[in-house]
Amino acid sequence: MQNWMKMRPAIVAVIAIALGSPIVIFAQAPHYDLLLKGGHVIDPANHIDEVRDVAVFQGKIAAVEKNIPADQAGKVVDVSKLYVTPGLIDIHFHVGHGGAPLDWFSPDARAHFIPLGIPADLALQSGVTTIVDAGTSGAETFLQEKEEVIDHARIRVLAFLNIVANGMNGGLEQTPDQMDAKLCADTIKKYPDLIVGVKTAHYWTKEPVDAAHALWTAVDRAIECGTVANVPVMFDFWPRPERTYADLILKKMRPGDIHTHVFAQQFPILLEDGKLNPILTEARARGVIFDVGHGAGSFWFRNAVPAAKQGFIPDSISTDLHTGNYTILSMNNVMSKFLAMGVPMDDVIRRSTVNPASEIRRPELGTLSVGKDADIAVLELMHGHFAYIDNGVAKMNANVQLTARMTVRAGRIVYDPSGLSMVEWEKARPQYFSTPDRGDSLPAKADDYPRD
Ligand SMILES: [Zn+2]
Repeated sequence: MQNWMKMRPAIVAVIAIALGSPIVIFAQAPHYDLLLKGGHVIDPANHIDEVRDVAVFQGKIAAVEKNIPADQAGKVVDVSKLYVTPGLIDIHFHVGHGGAPLDWFSPDARAHFIPLGIPADLALQSGVTTIVDAGTSGAETFLQEKEEVIDHARIRVLAFLNIVANGMNGGLEQTPDQMDAKLCADTIKKYPDLIVGVKTAHYWTKEPVDAAHALWTAVDRAIECGTVANVPVMFDFWPRPERTYADLILKKMRPGDIHTHVFAQQFPILLEDGKLNPILTEARARGVIFDVGHGAGSFWFRNAVPAAKQGFIPDSISTDLHTGNYTILSMNNVMSKFLAMGVPMDDVIRRSTVNPASEIRRPELGTLSVGKDADIAVLELMHGHFAYIDNGVAKMNANVQLTARMTVRAGRIVYDPSGLSMVEWEKARPQYFSTPDRGDSLPAKADDYPRD
């Protein structure tokens, strides 16, 4: 960080003499490091949905007000005609490789799945500043994920711990002995700053029932861990006649538990007559949370569109990004689908910020409240001809698209591909035009604002 950013702005008193009397004039140095000026601020946690300026100082939100003078900030960014929202939160993401072997193609590897995780910082491209790894790792593999990914990411990475100690894709997801509720809870208690919940997924989806695999084992052990550790459980679930979706959301899940992949093909979202299945409303009334978790196989327009039309919108919007879908999916893409389905902008933002923050019990995130980390998304809502696809290889035409223009994480500009915060090159300061000698410490850049 540059020295000028560390200094509390000095108030310089200038004594002037006028008409023979001493008058004190205050000339102020900049109050703020960064000022996003003229954007439409949507901050559902603070009920703000109007044009405001957002000021940042020392990595924290310093003010969200109308007409903050430009001369009060070291760097001013014109964000008029754009939306300014809290940094988005994607609570279903995959980083690291869980239990999958890095050398996954070696003949003696237990599983031959490509590791699920993708680079955490890719999410910054969508204005996301917090991702939650959805159970890629378990108790035996979490430390590796922490050391290899979480500790080095610019984006904030939290995690749901897989009830399977080895994690996902290591070939042990169908092994009940791996589902040790005590080991799971002990691990969560060891990393309370990073682990926000438990995840269960992919268990005994179609295999014939046998004595070694009770159908509810993964669900029951995950809930046991969540209860002991006092955290929510996220469920990836496959219903079968002996293990129904109604049983999951009406009997097994506790208030605050999260069903992800809600619009996947396997769930009875609609009744035969096209009406919304009342079990969803009933589950909601008892505190069950529904999450999108789009992924490579969990989003069908035939479920999502009629449900949205009947007022059932998932509580949180998330991607389930992993190596199997990152080329076509992003947080902005999933949010755009909900805008295209008629969900209003402020509601889409709510379900991508304050709602997920509350689901993972991190109310300090997903807001632009003064004093909180300056995690900010600058978004553009474009109108034109667009189309979106689902996992059933069907498409939907639309006239809106949301795209991130700039991402700020703890006050640092971490994504600004169109140079919103930058000067036109012809107008750059002299050192930009210099050719530094080897070892010259002067960076030949157009400004000194902290960027990554
Ligand atoms: Zn997932």
